[in-house]
Amino acid sequence: MVNIPKGTKDVLPEESYKWHYVESIVRKIADKYNAKEIRTPTFEHTELFLRGVGDTTDIVNKEMYTFKDKGDRSITLKPEGTAGVARAFIENGLKNSAMPLKMYYITPVFRYERPQAGRLREHHQFGVEFYGSSSADTDAEVILLAYDILTALGLHVKLKINSMGCPECRSAYNKALRAYFADKKDGLCETCLTRLDKNPLRILDCKVDTCKETVADAPVITDYLCDDCRAHFEKLKGLLATAGLDFEVDPHIVRGLDYYTRTVFEFVTDSLGSQGTVCGGGRYDNLIGQLGGGSVPGVGFGMGLERVLMLMEATGVKIPEDGEVSLYFATMGERAYNKAFYLASALRRAGVKCEIDHMERSVKAQFKYSDKLGAKYVVTIGDNELDSDRVELKKMSDGSVVTLPLEGFENAFKGFLNDN
Ligand code: ATP
Ligand code: MG
Repeated sequence: MVNIPKGTKDVLPEESYKWHYVESIVRKIADKYNAKEIRTPTFEHTELFLRGVGDTTDIVNKEMYTFKDKGDRSITLKPEGTAGVARAFIENGLKNSAMPLKMYYITPVFRYERPQAGRLREHHQFGVEFYGSSSADTDAEVILLAYDILTALGLHVKLKINSMGCPECRSAYNKALRAYFADKKDGLCETCLTRLDKNPLRILDCKVDTCKETVADAPVITDYLCDDCRAHFEKLKGLLATAGLDFEVDPHIVRGLDYYTRTVFEFVTDSLGSQGTVCGGGRYDNLIGQLGGGSVPGVGFGMGLERVLMLMEATGVKIPEDGEVSLYFATMGERAYNKAFYLASALRRAGVKCEIDHMERSVKAQFKYSDKLGAKYVVTIGDNELDSDRVELKKMSDGSVVTLPLEGFENAFKGFLNDN
């Protein structure tokens, strides 16, 4: 027996309706914002992520599934959704589209992490990417889109926002961080000591307890914003307030990816332990440029769908199941089975969800099975029904029975459904 790889999950037939539900809500609301789906490959050239995600991030340093293919190319399974979309945008000349270009995706994401509840090696993200506008109202719209989805799914989560400024503000801030940490090196982990050198901002995102303590009194980026970045942040806050969204400014949110500029945000919950971030995103005005596509601003987020489903479960949100079987054919004998087989295929083509025995069950066992399926109606067909051309249709919820003709039953049943 070969087992499933660590950190991956099957979605079994009895639970796939939950994914359908979440995905349908996500698509419906993305459409309300006029975002269109983009699909990019599951793997890309490794270099895309080195350049796009940033080589001082945990994702690139520790978490990527990278391998050589048979043509000796270095290939990486998507460790996030944004870089692939940026590559597709550049490669397909989407810069010439009417802006803003609003895109969304649903994709598997691969990260070599220590598996635990809410942290998998293959998880799935819904994400959006709005390209072409550098205005704070696009940031606000993207945040609202995420909020609308989480709300439609029955979730109540907290919105935290921050600004990471532009490279100009960040260089002043990095200087301040280096000065702050200079005499606190004892409180930093090994990795953070190298971060101090290369990218001190990453220290703020460290999950090690001693680092978290050391970080607590560090200078905050919001004190180092240039006038333009400050104005952008103020405008965003005003728009979110206008839209009636509660939020908290958390100057310690820096996000795990290097490409962010200005706005960053997270939707967080206390109900999932330390895997409490269900959605994270922000603005990345330099990403397209970094990848060689010229100056195109962008803003977006990634929402972890496993965490969304876990939170729905944890907070008792009821998820409607896929439609039940409308009609079950219980049959006796081969002649009856052939008739039912014909009727079932005709009704399925006419849009009715129906089921028929495949296991040569007795009539009694067929009724039991129809009950298991949750069939709304059961029609019984045997020699008597074939000879008399009449069948009894039983409504399972109350046991009531109506008689319908067997010849043309497919139309009679559809008519009956319309009237009832
Ligand atoms: P975390 O801080 O929890 O590691 P992250 O900052 O690495 O999250 P992002 O890269 O922003 O996460 O990904 C967007 C969302 O995808 C996260 O908010 C989370 O909901 C989900 N996510 C990220 N990594 C995993 C994982 N390994 N397993 C399940 N969901 C994940
Ligand atoms: Mg992570």
